[in-house]
Amino acid sequence: MDTANEVKLQEQYIEKVKKINQNKIPKYTILTMGCQLNENDSEKLCGMLENMGYIQTQDSKEADLALFNTCCVRENAEDKLFGKLGELKRLKEERGIIIAIGGCMMQEKHITDKIKQSYPFVDILFGTHTLHKFPENLYKTIEEKKKLEDIIDINGEIYEGLPIKREGNIKASVTIMNGCNNFCSYCIVPYVRGRERSRMPKDIIYEIEDLAKQGYQEITLLGQNVNSYLRAEHEKGINFGDKEGIHSFATLLKAINKIDGIKRIRFVSPHPKDFTEDVIEAIASCNKVCKLVHLPLQSGNSKVLKEMNRKYTKEQYLALVKQMKEKIPNLTLSTDIIVGFPGETEKEFEDTLDVVRQVKFEQVYMFIYSRRVGTPGDKMENQIPEEQKHKRFDRLKALVESQMQENNQKYVGTVQKVLVEGESKNNKDLLTGRTDSNKVVIFEGSEDLIGKIIDLKIISEHMWYLKGEM
Ligand code: SF4
Repeated sequence: MDTANEVKLQEQYIEKVKKINQNKIPKYTILTMGCQLNENDSEKLCGMLENMGYIQTQDSKEADLALFNTCCVRENAEDKLFGKLGELKRLKEERGIIIAIGGCMMQEKHITDKIKQSYPFVDILFGTHTLHKFPENLYKTIEEKKKLEDIIDINGEIYEGLPIKREGNIKASVTIMNGCNNFCSYCIVPYVRGRERSRMPKDIIYEIEDLAKQGYQEITLLGQNVNSYLRAEHEKGINFGDKEGIHSFATLLKAINKIDGIKRIRFVSPHPKDFTEDVIEAIASCNKVCKLVHLPLQSGNSKVLKEMNRKYTKEQYLALVKQMKEKIPNLTLSTDIIVGFPGETEKEFEDTLDVVRQVKFEQVYMFIYSRRVGTPGDKMENQIPEEQKHKRFDRLKALVESQMQENNQKYVGTVQKVLVEGESKNNKDLLTGRTDSNKVVIFEGSEDLIGKIIDLKIISEHMWYLKGEM
């Protein structure tokens, strides 16, 4: 069945479950782990559930359905899931709630085997390629009282037109592609999300034009490798239409930049090896594209990068940074770094610190290497002892925090354009927003500023935020 008819079939199951729920207001809880792509998938799961007559609750004690959208990039995610399942066992016995688990972790057989063995009370297990079939699986669970496992290992498809319930009304995430063909040796994503596949330009433009009509100001384009958008389709000779001449990531950015109403465009996650001239030029020339670019480094040593299968060297990464800083005015950079990859020596770790000192990143997401079953990294012999990994992590963290103070200082006294997002979480009398470089700014102001981009003078800096005034 083609994807369009598959979505139509699921709409029929949505109606069937809705019928079962009429005269009732069943409640659901949802726990999302992992990346922004998973959060966007959860928005689709919430959209389907609310079309089936469910309403969301934060309190599992009053829920009729508990849903987990899992991540498997790091080990602690599994512990978190099993802990939550333990808590739900009693509610299952007392109230017969339905428990459903989806997401990347479900593509790992050793995990689903563990769940079936240790948590046999779980009703539905579904994977990354069957998320769109959630209405059908829920209907069968309710009607046939059966436990269901709907997990397939395929290259992957794109399902357009799934219902979506978005968090907030100022910023929205839009997935432009899924899957990854890079197979970095520490990463499980290619094994659980399938091969790279891009949405058709017309579907992305249609979605963003609709978001602009709804008043959304900022769009974040999502993908494991956004700057290889449409490359797999080119390679396979797939016709992706001629929407505004879009045939690459650069031309997609330029087309979105023309959409009235959208004020800011962000994107995650790009790969350094795919930053071609046209992408750099598009970031520089598109006034709505934020000049904070996420450029995952992972390691600063070329031998480690080779073993990570990252397809660039330390020198190439630094040359790219230099080229981007020359071509893109006001560019700021964020990055991801893994410490303790198998075989990483002290000297090789020093190379990572050296790149951090040279580049002065605006933001560094730091991770301790975590073995993932099924990845080449997991089979490597020279694993680094945990204690040593933590020592390196602490050294990197100290360097990054010292640089952040320096970086933040340069904002004081400047006027920044800030998108006002709402009340400050820690102080209801203050508002919060973000600069183009994604810095949090706290300031005094009236509620009618929420959703607007305003000029704020930065008067002081604090480790995790800046203080501003009108
Ligand atoms: S590019 Fe590498 S790190 Fe990123 S999702 Fe693909 S395999 Fe994982």
